[in-house]
Order: sequence, then structure tokens, then C-alpha cells
Amino acid sequence: MKQLYHSYDEAVALFKELESRRPDLFRTEVIGQTWEKREIIAVTITQNIEIADTKPALFFTGTIHAREWIGLELAIGFAQYVDRNIAYDHIVQEALENSTIYMVPCANPDGFEYSRNHFSFWRKNRRQNADGSYGVDLNRNFPVGFVKSNNPSSNVYGGPAPFSEPETRAIRDFVESHKNIAIALDYHSQGNVFFPAHDFRHEDTIDTTDMNVLCANMAEEIRKISDREYGIHQGKPPTKLISGSGREFYYSKGIIASVVEVGTRNISDYLDDMIEHIREHIPALLTCLKEVPNYAIETVMPRPENFRATYVGIDNVTLEWEPYSCCKESDEIYFEIYRSRREKSYCRPFNLIGLTQANRFSDSNLQSDSPYFYHIRAVNKKSGQKSPFAPVLAIRTHVDDDEFHRTYFPTPDKTGYVAQKSKDNASHFGVNSLFVGINETKGISYSVITIPLKTIPKNAVIKRARLRLYPMNRVGVTVEKFGEWDIGIVDPESIKDLTSFKDVESMKIRSYVGRPTLSNHLTQGIWRSWEFSEVECKALQEQITNEQVVFRIEGPKTLSIGRTSQMMQWDIGYGKFGGGLAFRPHLEITYTLEPNRMELFPKQSFTVCADGIEDGKILSGFDSNGKKIYATFDFELGSLPDWEFMQITRAYVVLNPIKVYAKDNIRFHLEMIDADAERDYEAIKARRIIENIGYDVSVSELKNQEQVFVFDTYAIQEFGNRLRDKKSIAFLLRPSSAQKLTRNSVIEWHSSHPEFTPKLVIEYLHKRRRPVSPVTNLSFKIENGKVRLSWKNPKDKDFKGVFVIKNRFRKPISPYDGDKLYGGPDEWTYDDFGALDVKKYYAVFTYDDVPNFSEPVILEYQPKNSG
Ligand SMILES: [Zn+2]
Repeated sequence: MKQLYHSYDEAVALFKELESRRPDLFRTEVIGQTWEKREIIAVTITQNIEIADTKPALFFTGTIHAREWIGLELAIGFAQYVDRNIAYDHIVQEALENSTIYMVPCANPDGFEYSRNHFSFWRKNRRQNADGSYGVDLNRNFPVGFVKSNNPSSNVYGGPAPFSEPETRAIRDFVESHKNIAIALDYHSQGNVFFPAHDFRHEDTIDTTDMNVLCANMAEEIRKISDREYGIHQGKPPTKLISGSGREFYYSKGIIASVVEVGTRNISDYLDDMIEHIREHIPALLTCLKEVPNYAIETVMPRPENFRATYVGIDNVTLEWEPYSCCKESDEIYFEIYRSRREKSYCRPFNLIGLTQANRFSDSNLQSDSPYFYHIRAVNKKSGQKSPFAPVLAIRTHVDDDEFHRTYFPTPDKTGYVAQKSKDNASHFGVNSLFVGINETKGISYSVITIPLKTIPKNAVIKRARLRLYPMNRVGVTVEKFGEWDIGIVDPESIKDLTSFKDVESMKIRSYVGRPTLSNHLTQGIWRSWEFSEVECKALQEQITNEQVVFRIEGPKTLSIGRTSQMMQWDIGYGKFGGGLAFRPHLEITYTLEPNRMELFPKQSFTVCADGIEDGKILSGFDSNGKKIYATFDFELGSLPDWEFMQITRAYVVLNPIKVYAKDNIRFHLEMIDADAERDYEAIKARRIIENIGYDVSVSELKNQEQVFVFDTYAIQEFGNRLRDKKSIAFLLRPSSAQKLTRNSVIEWHSSHPEFTPKLVIEYLHKRRRPVSPVTNLSFKIENGKVRLSWKNPKDKDFKGVFVIKNRFRKPISPYDGDKLYGGPDEWTYDDFGALDVKKYYAVFTYDDVPNFSEPVILEYQPKNSG
């Protein structure tokens, strides 16, 4: 397992050999000495190495934890790749033309050699501690958040003081003397995840989006090579933020920084796994290098300001931002806009949806009731330099006219996991994570999620659904590309005791949902969604009568020899191990209802021709002089429900011909016109058409059969406007002919026959159009060290609840643009885990049962001492 890995001395020799062969490209230097007198080296790689320190730079550190050998191997792999490819590979050339990479391939040479030769699992360096134990965790020895501990034998002992260790001092001195460092990546194993830096608060920072995008872009390069998905996780609650790490030290210097956790084992199978890890991370590193100049501390461009949605519709969104202030000539700047369907998305050419020099962008043809995430950055046309990103903008499009939306959370005491070897599976309900898979202590584990469906109408027709789970972590997953995870709708007949392993195992699955998730697609820090197909939506719909749906999640059920765990852990969002509301599993449903149907009959009908008006008859065609004969009929709309509380899903007019005296060259069409239009021939000829309904009908299509003229979207809207204004509506049948002159061609339509008389058919849903009133009296106080918000709900019978969200950077107009703090009918909430010392906006939206969301009531929170 270990023979193919390089020793520290071999690695140093290898870098020195590259330097002597390509002194224009490689430089090595000694930056410090360890307790055991090994030289700590830094390797610089760039084109025109003599100007390396004048270019913006990426700082790479590897193997600061002794047993995490990937760092050193990746540094070697990357240097060799550059050496092999630089002559022809334009990606390598461009990356190293404007950027420099500084690598400390092994930040802990003593510990690494100890791990290599004596004790594989060693993590710390090799300082001799006062109590006779060895080692300081170098990644706890940096000053930011440093914790003094009296337990030197601990694996995470941070040392007697910040920078007490020669290894961390060497890194500090190097970083402090290289002000051109813009981005830092610290390579560890394992987890297949990026951990971007934080500022010791559970709040987004202005550059959170930059770090997430940078990591997502690298992750996409990794996926390209190996189909492996990496997570991105900035230490969200209730995760304890780690103290004294290198990453936060770099970040405190203004450097964008992330830890990269590679692979699923510290010392993996070299030929099978390590080579693949190196191969997948080289393009990711090159992508990162390309971004370095955009984050150069001294020349960084300002990010676009106040990027916000000013309109959110059913299928369209309007985005706006402030005019760019830094450049005198505004035409030097344009903006790139990226759109994604999922959070923490990459920004790559294939999701770049707009380039503009304006301060406004409209996006259309979106799907209704769906989340979208937007990113924007400015670009200097001449230099090609790009700005950092504005904080990501999240919205959800509104439901379509015939749609309703529900988000359902699990019933806690019926949601948990059962493990084969556990004596007390009932204790895993409502409190623990959802474990799924197999490991040595638990045996096989299944999770069960029960979601109440009481409040969805029994006649709902489910159009779309997705189940979402938040992965806690996958550090326990030690087998690569093995096994799959499935979610199934349980047949209710087969449900017995949800807390019994045997009963859960023998439950029948009515339908699995979406595609299985492969182990290499499980990522932490990024929500996973299972989208329901039409057939699966039907299976879900069947559960509505039971007023609940039970899902079973299952994973791999066998372990291969020598492996101890293949277990996934999702957040339950309840109990002390859960991340709370924001991380709770949930089921999103978009549904419609079987429509109501109403038939209206004409109040009156006329035939209008050059000779005069004939009451009560419907004729249309051409008279003996070739003049047009029109028919009109109108409807009273008073019997339809109040426009404010209904949505028309379909409308059409039905006409039946009685007699046809016409040749094939005539067609007819139906126009919607104002009901109060005059009915004399000249006025009819000069009529104003509201909209044409349906298509022209030819004489041959008439053949005594019913004709249906269907309203298009615009016609429905216009019809709705008349309904709202309580007006009547009229229709006119108009003949047309391509012939120069057509004479004596007439169609007679039924006008009073009980069965065949014209009718206007309206299909509609009872659905509130406008939101209920917003909340009032929104205020806050500090209680138990937290911000406590309170408000007064409106007294409207259709009021269902409020959404409370916070956004650190802008006043949100969408209830999805920020961290959700609360959803429900209460009149108060805490900002749990929120910081008191940062400015932020709280927004409260009321909603009804559609839901329509009210305008937000916004509270701007200013920390006490910031003035
Ligand atoms: Zn580590």
C-alpha cells in the first residue's frame, strides 16, 4: 500500500531536479527547519520565474497533518504535469503566465516521515511535549481562535502558544513576506469536500460567495475527470468552528482560503485511488490559478453592489444592481450573469446566461415554483480582469395560475433510523442524524422519514415533487465508488413498527424515487434532491388519503473485506444533533386541483349585415353583394365567482352549425370584443378586437360538428380583466375569404337549441390571488445572547403563517433570498447561532395557503457599537 508513495527526501530531490532542469519554471527554497532538523521547502512555479513574486499567487500547503499524504503527492503530480505539458498545453501556459503558485508540499516533514515509517495514523508534528508525549497539531497552532489546552497528548493539541512550532513559523514568515498571495488552498484528507474559511461567526461574509464559487468551479473540474462530486461546507451551525487553523490565518490576511479534503482515506490505494485523485485535482488547481489575478489584493476590482431581484414572476425574474462606480468610462465594464438551479453552484461558461453593460437584466422562460440562484461579476473589457462576485441571489419563481405549493417537514417521532445491531432503535427517532448504510458497530441501517399530508386537499393532482436531504458529513465513509442509496415510498399496508429493524427491513416499497445516488455523488454541505417522475408523483398522490407518506432510505448492505464503514449521515433537523429548521429534511410539492366548470349561455345574439340587424339569430358569411355578415353574442359574467378568489385554468366557446351554404374557400374565426360595442353595421366594421380566439375554421371542418374556440393565455388574461371589472363580454364571428369576391355563402349556427346553443365554458380553481396583509410591529430585543424578533400577525382568515429570513447584504424581496429562521404561525423567533456584532436585514413575509407572499416587513439590524 505504501511503496509507491514518495518519501520526503525523494520528494525534495525531485523538486530540485525540476529546478535544475527548468530554472525558468521552477524554484525551490528552504523556508524553515523542523524539530528533527529537516528542511521545510517551498516550491515556486510560474513562467518567467524571475518575476514570480510580482504576479498574484496561489499558496498551496500539503500534509500539515502527517497521515494525510495526498498533499505531498499532489504537489509532486502537479509539478510533473506542468513540466510535461507546458510546451504545448495552453491551459497550463495561460494559468502560469499571469499567476504564480507557491507550494509547501509537506508542511510537516517530521510527522510525515513518522507516519510513513512507524505509525501510519500519526497526525501531529514531532515536538517533545513537557509531559513526555509527542506532537502539536500544526493546524491548531495558528493564532486565529487559538485555544490553549493542558492536554498535550490530545490529537488536536494546539501547542503552548500560537506559532510555537517551527513549521507554522516558517509558513507565517513566508506568507507575510509574500503580499502577492491572493488565494490559499490547504490540502488534507479525507471527505471529498471543500471547507472555505470563516470569520468565526455563523454568518455569511461578503466573500462567502467568492469562496463557494471558486470551490464549486474546482469541484466541477473534478467531476469532469472522475464523476466524483465534492461538497462545499463553510462550517454551518451547529458545527463547532475549528480553532487555530492555517486557513483562518490566511483569511485574516485578506486571502481567500479553503481546506480541500481529498478522497475517502488518508493513505489510499496508490494505483487505484491516489493516481485518480491527483488526476482530478490538477485541472481544479489550474482553474483556481486562472482566478488568482481576479483576487489579487492590491488590484482587486469592486464587486457589483446591491445585486437584487426587483421582480419575481411565474416564469421570469428582473435583476438589478448599482451602476459600477470604479471606472470613469462605463463602457470599459460589462457584467456576467450566471444562473443555476442549485445552491453553491459553479459559474462556468455553460451557465453564463447574460452579458450586459446595463444595470438590469431580465431572465425569462423559467419554470414555475422553482428555486433559482444568480451570480454576477463585473469584467473589465480591456484587461479582461474580473471582479469578485456579489453575494449570491436566491429566489423562487411563483406558482403558476393553476398551481399550489406545499413544503412539508417530517413528523419527528416517526423519523429516525434503525440499526441492525442497536438495542434501542426507538431512541434514534426525532433526535439523531439519519444514518443509512452499513458499518461494523451498527450493522445495516435504514432511515425512515414520515411526512404528514393532512393539509393537502384530497383532490390534489401532484404535478411535481422533490424530497430534499442535507448531508451531515461523510467522514465515516471509507469505501470509494461502492454502493448506492435509494429512497422509496413505503406501501402503507406493510408498515408495522417504524422503530423495529425487522419491520422496517421487511416493509414493501410502492415506488422508488428518482435515480439511485451513487457513493461518489454524496456530498456534504450541499442539499441533495430526489425529483419525482410523473409515475412517482402518482404514487405519492395515492398517499394523500392516508394523510401521510413514509419514505425508507436504504444504502449498501455489505462491506468488502478490510473496510469498516459505508455509511451516510443526513441531518434530521431536530434534537440536539440536528441543525434545526434550516437543515431539516423536507418534501416540496407542486399540485393543482381538478377544476370547477361553469357554462354560460348568451344573454342575447344578433346577426349584423349591410341590410340591418336580425335579433336572436346567428348567421355569418357573405351576402348577395359580397358583403360580410357578422354574428355577435354576449355573456353576463355575474354568476362567476369573485375574481379575487379564483383562477381561470381554461376557457373556450362552443358553437354548433345548423346549415352550411358555403364553398370551401371560406373560413371563420371568433373575436373577443367589448360587450358595449354598438351593433350597427358600420360600428361593427370599425370594432376594436380584444383578442382572436382559437384558429380559423374552414367550411369543410364544419360538417355539422361542434366547434371549440380555445382561449390562449392572453385571451384568458383579458377575459379576467373584464371579470374583475364586472363587465360583460361579447364575441363576434367573422367570415374571411382569400377570394376577391364571395357571394351568397352563409353558415347558420344554433342560437337557441337547448343542447346546441352557443356556450362559454370556464374552468377555474378557487384560489386567492393576492397575499394577506403584512405583519405589523416588527421589533427585536437581545435575549439570552440572541436576537429575538417579534411581530403582530394580520387578522385575516386566510393568513397561514410567516417566513422570517435574514440576509446580511441586502433587503430581500423574495422569501427565499436568505437564511430561513422561522416558518409558521407564531409571532416571534430567535436568530439562533446568529452573530450580534454584524449588520444584517431581517425580513418577515406573511403567506396564505397558495402561498402568496406579502411584501416583506424589513428590520435593519445594526450592532450596538457600530454607530
Ligand atoms: Zn487534516
